[in-house]
Amino acid sequence: MDFVKLNDVYELLKTDNQALYVETDMRAMYNPTRMEVIKTATTKLVSKIMSCCPQCEIPGFDVTKANKGLACNLCGFPTNSILSYIYECQHCNFTKTEMYPHNKQFEDPMYCDNCNP
Ligand SMILES: [Zn+2]
Ligand SMILES: [Zn+2]
Repeated sequence: MDFVKLNDVYELLKTDNQALYVETDMRAMYNPTRMEVIKTATTKLVSKIMSCCPQCEIPGFDVTKANKGLACNLCGFPTNSILSYIYECQHCNFTKTEMYPHNKQFEDPMYCDNCNP
């Protein structure tokens, strides 16, 4: 995510949202060690802004919890892989469970503690 792309996102959001407030800590611009952290944080923030709550349509609908326990394809033992994500709206507290976020309902036995300890 560079600043040109961020500007594009800002313009895009501005057309959809009447009120948009973007805050930047300019001091961080002069601190190169923080740049990478900020880049990651900005990317996360942008994707968070882009997802709106299905109920109140306010941006910021995001994953607040990840549930492990995707079943092993061979033995059915719950693995450490993600079974579902819980999304929660910071505004109206609407929650949504997204099952199998990685589009698979079973985990490969190679990641299973039972089959492949
Ligand atoms: Zn909401
Ligand atoms: Zn297994």
